Amino acid sequence: MNMSESASNGTMVELLDVNKWFGQFHVLKNINLNVAKGERIVICGPSGSGKSTMIRCINRLEEHQQGRIIVDGVELTSDLKNIDTVRREVGMVFQHFNLFPHLTVLENCTLAPIWVRGVPKNDAEELGMQYLERVKIPEQADKYPGQLSGGQQQRVAIARSLCMQPNIMLFDEPTSALDPEMISEVLDVMIDLAESGMTMLCVTHEMGFARKVANRVVFMDGGEIIEANEPEAFFSNPQSDRTKLFLSQIL
Ligand code: ADP
Ligand code: MG
Repeated sequence: MNMSESASNGTMVELLDVNKWFGQFHVLKNINLNVAKGERIVICGPSGSGKSTMIRCINRLEEHQQGRIIVDGVELTSDLKNIDTVRREVGMVFQHFNLFPHLTVLENCTLAPIWVRGVPKNDAEELGMQYLERVKIPEQADKYPGQLSGGQQQRVAIARSLCMQPNIMLFDEPTSALDPEMISEVLDVMIDLAESGMTMLCVTHEMGFARKVANRVVFMDGGEIIEANEPEAFFSNPQSDRTKLFLSQIL
């Protein structure tokens, strides 16, 4: 394992001059980002700016070609052991909930702990119920995802990730596929998680959420981080014209 100096100084995720191409297309350009333990970062930017690709690189759903990515002291290299380690530590919630449709809500929550972590079934179920309570839907445990609303399914997806007891949670537009009336029930769960001290990296355009919980807002455009700042300063005093344009379009 490639332990980095960063593990000891409170850094959870570090991206150093990260570059990535899809064929000829330069999708991530010299990305530098440091996420401290317990820090909550909101990433925003126009569609196609590379937000999903960047966070997918952090749990190695995508591979970067240049630079370094270090997650909780483990560098992402082609060493499969490191990738495994990192996947266990990183929870991910997608826009489309990606629940297993043929498994109940509770089975969705216990599958990975049982088969990946080797947790005994009873313990996994107890943990699953704990997290379903945390996202306020324990009464749905025996239902199938198709019987739930979009907001409920997304809360199950969050509970399922938490069951692996990750050190960091990545969210990729978790509310953008939801009907408007369901957005707040998911954001409330995310706010609760933020207040519990979880390190979070959230791609979202929910700027109310950003103001409430983010330590920093990062704006991406054209594969680059254009600027990053505390929410107050980011919204009241954006530096770049591209950021100003973006904010004028979404606020
Ligand atoms: P965002 O999440 O900010 O909307 P993405 O990271 O999804 O942006 O995509 C950034 C760019 O990379 C887009 O132009 C997209 O079309 C392209 N892209 C994303 N995934 C792939 C892929 N697997 N192969 C080729 N191009 C891709
Ligand atoms: Mg995206």
